[in-house]
Amino acid sequence: MPVNLLGLGRAELTAYCANLGENPPRRFRARQLMHWMHQAGADSFSAMTDISKPLRERLALDAVIAGPSVMRDTAAADGTRKWLLDVGTGNAVETVFIPETSRGTLCISSQAGCALECSFCATGRQGFNRNLTTAEIIGQLWWANKCLGAYEGANNNKGEARVISNVVMMGMGEPLANFDNVVSAMQLMLDDDAYGLSRRRVTLSTSGLVPALDRLREACPVALAVSLHAPNDTLRNVLVPINKKYPIRELLAACVRYLDKAPRDFVMFEYTLLDGVNDSVAQARELIETVKGVPCKINLIPFNPFEGSGYARSKPDAVRRFQEILLRAGLVATTRKTRGDDIAAACGQLAGQVADKTRRAERRLARIPVVEKEPASAVGVVP
Ligand code: SAH
Ligand code: SF4
Repeated sequence: MPVNLLGLGRAELTAYCANLGENPPRRFRARQLMHWMHQAGADSFSAMTDISKPLRERLALDAVIAGPSVMRDTAAADGTRKWLLDVGTGNAVETVFIPETSRGTLCISSQAGCALECSFCATGRQGFNRNLTTAEIIGQLWWANKCLGAYEGANNNKGEARVISNVVMMGMGEPLANFDNVVSAMQLMLDDDAYGLSRRRVTLSTSGLVPALDRLREACPVALAVSLHAPNDTLRNVLVPINKKYPIRELLAACVRYLDKAPRDFVMFEYTLLDGVNDSVAQARELIETVKGVPCKINLIPFNPFEGSGYARSKPDAVRRFQEILLRAGLVATTRKTRGDDIAAACGQLAGQVADKTRRAERRLARIPVVEKEPASAVGVVP
């Protein structure tokens, strides 16, 4: 089986080049390959004109540069773009690009499904299938850059505006449950010979795996978002069941430890507002007490409903009231704009629709403006 060079970090690629018995030095070769793949978007060796022809031919026999297999590419009226990627054995994950005036954010998936079963999350409802490989994780950034034309003119690392300026590990899956592959992929995101993003512009979102969060602080401290969603353990045990293992107090202590090494001096707490569940005045006040002592910002997320979730989005008045209470207490609290609603650009939602084999779902998908569509016959089910 040929090795997929897209998923090799600097050290692995250098070791790979050493195995080729290469002269000039293997480090130099590894850098050349990194530039071609990650900064020029190469998907074959033939274009690598600064590498000798015999070596290119040898590479072509031994290795591949394999990006994701794209099942569906949809664009929303507001510029949000969403790719549904086939990861084999009937599973699909998604990647979402969200353009804004001053930045472009790519939301990347880390697992097919998720084992943590947060009660309001479509991905959690699908159960866990498997970890994505490093190549599948970094391949999402590679592919999105390609699709968005970022490689044309190769403006990476030259100080010009980048199409994708920020990456958030907020797609499907729990990134800290796929620690090694996620860290390898993030190291490529940060590497100046690959994507060269600053640590502040790469954000990992976790539901709170405390030991892994401590490991991340040492291995690859990037900006941190934590899915809080409740002001106390009783409610968080229901919404985010991993809380039974790592309760709020332990999680917040880990957040404070993380900030020692973090590129930002605050943690972003995500709080999805669910109608009548966690959006009351009393819960807003309790939240203020709970996060006391942790330098933080709070991002209030309107719930993205999905069929059979049993939850509803909080009323606009409740959202405003909740936010005002936090602001009056001196906290920084923002409300996330819903983006790409017409393509269901929320965590786990499009893949959730693929799992739903009813005719109603098919009709709904048919109304989505499809930019490019490949037969999805082999990939019908996400368990
Ligand atoms: N597993 C990680 C990252 C992926 S989810 C985590 O849980 O943090 C990214 C964010 O979207 C999390 O805060 C998650 O709780 C939230 N989320 C999941 N389903 C949602 C939904 N239907 N509506 C709104 N937010 C949701
Ligand atoms: Fe998994 Fe995050 Fe969804 Fe929870 S919210 S089920 S951790 S993807």
